[in-house]
Amino acid sequence: MAAGEEKRVRRKAPVTQAPLSSGKPEGDAVGSTLRPRRLEDFIGQEQLRNNLDIFIKAARSRNEPLDHCLLYGPPGLGKTTLSQIIAAELGVRFKFTSGPALTRAGDLASILVSLRERDVLFIDEIHRLPPAVEESLYSAMEDFRLPIILGKGPSAKIMTISLKPFTLIGATTRFGMLSAPLRDRFGIVMRMDPYNEEELTQIIANAACRLDTVVEPAAATRIAGRSRGIPRIALRNLKRIRDYLAYAGASVVDVKLVDEAFSQLNIDKYGLLDIDRRLLAAIDEKFRGGPVGLDSLASAISEDPETVSVVIEPYLVQLNFIARTSQGRVITDLGRRYLKGHDGVSGDGEDGLFRHLRRL
Ligand code: ADP
Repeated sequence: MAAGEEKRVRRKAPVTQAPLSSGKPEGDAVGSTLRPRRLEDFIGQEQLRNNLDIFIKAARSRNEPLDHCLLYGPPGLGKTTLSQIIAAELGVRFKFTSGPALTRAGDLASILVSLRERDVLFIDEIHRLPPAVEESLYSAMEDFRLPIILGKGPSAKIMTISLKPFTLIGATTRFGMLSAPLRDRFGIVMRMDPYNEEELTQIIANAACRLDTVVEPAAATRIAGRSRGIPRIALRNLKRIRDYLAYAGASVVDVKLVDEAFSQLNIDKYGLLDIDRRLLAAIDEKFRGGPVGLDSLASAISEDPETVSVVIEPYLVQLNFIARTSQGRVITDLGRRYLKGHDGVSGDGEDGLFRHLRRL
């Protein structure tokens, strides 16, 4: 190795650990250029995509709005992206809002009256709609009419506004928190699952192409194995590795560079971060292996319970490092072995998520 090269490799790249969050899309320009725009470019979720294709074509041929859709699944799986694609395939406008942003029924009313025929209204985190707003949505969804209460007390009057037929797409990470009346008003209910190795590798390869970054196929697979089955995490990892590539002055992302970048980012071969390890250690040490309830566990690691149950835990359950029992969370033998530094819990030094799952 030439002296200059050696220096480059030894220098630490200024990368920071990618935060885990249940938050919304990367608002940056790069994030939006990576979003697929048509159904045929959307990788994975094949059955769901095929069904949607049929429903969209049928709605178009009848010149009707698509039935209201509910998309549910963990954050970062593509619910917003798919909803934008649905609007594009229907050839209509896409309006974005979210449950917590609609604090009063009037907020929702002003959006609904602005919709044109067959437009798509997307409500993210729909499980967080305040009850009064949710109730005013019922008749809007069912017969495109919006009751407005004028005045207060015995002299209050109800006026009904007619709306243009539209499609509501609701997205949620907490299907169980939706009330039955709201759930029942969706004609199409679709669950999104984490992606498999091939799909995630393809998403990374496509994004690398759009970012003009050369990534060797084995390196793309390596990134996929450390991205928890979630496109948002895969793309974020790819972007940090691209920074690392520029810093190292290299031109191709290979497996060695990926490993160096992940080690800098403190992301291990399963895609686990410090916060995951802290959670495992808390169950093991503070609660003697469990069972422990969600609130106690969340406060032990200074996280909010929602992030623990929606973002951190499902992946640890998938890896079989923890189990959820009726009494609470417990650490498994595999989880303990991982904590003790038996890195190759699956008996191999180089396994990411997918090889681990194949061996479980
Ligand atoms: P969600 O709404 O479920 O939280 P998003 O739709 O915001 O997830 O997706 C997160 C990121 O992952 C976006 O940058 C999106 O482009 C990308 N992404 C998600 N699903 C796919 C997919 N199937 N193919 C390609 N990119 C995807």
